[in-house]
Amino acid sequence: MTDDQRIEVYPGCEAVVEFDPDLTFECVPECTWCCHHGVLLYGKDLLELAQRENINESVKQIRGRDFVRREEKDRDEHIDIDEHACYFLRDDGRCSLHAEHDWKPTRCSVFPLEVHVEDDDIHVSVRDEAHTYCEGLNVSDRHVIDHLDAFLPRVLWNLDDPTTKVEL
Ligand code: SF4
Ligand code: SF4
Repeated sequence: MTDDQRIEVYPGCEAVVEFDPDLTFECVPECTWCCHHGVLLYGKDLLELAQRENINESVKQIRGRDFVRREEKDRDEHIDIDEHACYFLRDDGRCSLHAEHDWKPTRCSVFPLEVHVEDDDIHVSVRDEAHTYCEGLNVSDRHVIDHLDAFLPRVLWNLDDPTTKVEL
């Protein structure tokens, strides 16, 4: 039995925290593991991406939903099984959206956490695979619980279903 904490992330927007409150996180830029998977774009993300990049080149639809395109990348470490990675992953391992526009899609902000809904509440936990692959867990002093707004964009509270555990 865990003592989940309810945190107000934005005024009127609460999340139930299911991870250890001592958890810290700092992204390790050389890692890039999470950038080898498809990124689902919510409607707001698509609009914001279109203001910054050519979405005809960078976005593709899968089963009626919009995803950042993946493409073959000339990287020899952390390459996914099919040697494809996010369209926006640069050769230096950085995200071009983050580096050039100081912006990234909602789902990229949420990682390495995940969100699900229970009794109309947003619950947040650490994504299972992150324990194995994400190099940024517990390597810094930055407590996740103190920075939840950085991981959970406000748009999540406006979605019909903010659940992030939706695989391709
Ligand atoms: S948009 Fe950026 S942060 Fe998100 S998967 Fe692509 S490269 Fe990584
Ligand atoms: S898997 Fe974790 S440490 Fe690696 S790039 Fe993604 S968020 Fe950063």
